[in-house]
Amino acid sequence: MTEGIRRPDTVLGRFQAQLAYINDVAFEMSPETPEMVVEVQSALRAAAETLTPLTGVERASSTGCSLHPEGAVDPVAPPTWGRCLLCNTRRRRGLDVQPRWSQI
Ligand SMILES: [Zn+2]
Repeated sequence: MTEGIRRPDTVLGRFQAQLAYINDVAFEMSPETPEMVVEVQSALRAAAETLTPLTGVERASSTGCSLHPEGAVDPVAPPTWGRCLLCNTRRRRGLDVQPRWSQI
């Protein structure tokens, strides 16, 4: 699936890698795998944000998170954690904060 990706070090290359990951997970998920559905939702939002540098539009991040700059803010974030609800939920579940697609 990754042979079609041109350059992973570019914005478009990262976007293509994210879409390839989303495509792989999307064909594995089902109504019985809600955690995969949440992962796809998160990855889709992050993939859309990946393209922001190409739009020429700067946005202020409400979360301060590079993966989920427009995500929900955690209202009860511990002082040493960031404000991103998605990343903090992953921390609380003992998962890696960075989803697998961002480690490609
Ligand atoms: Zn985050």
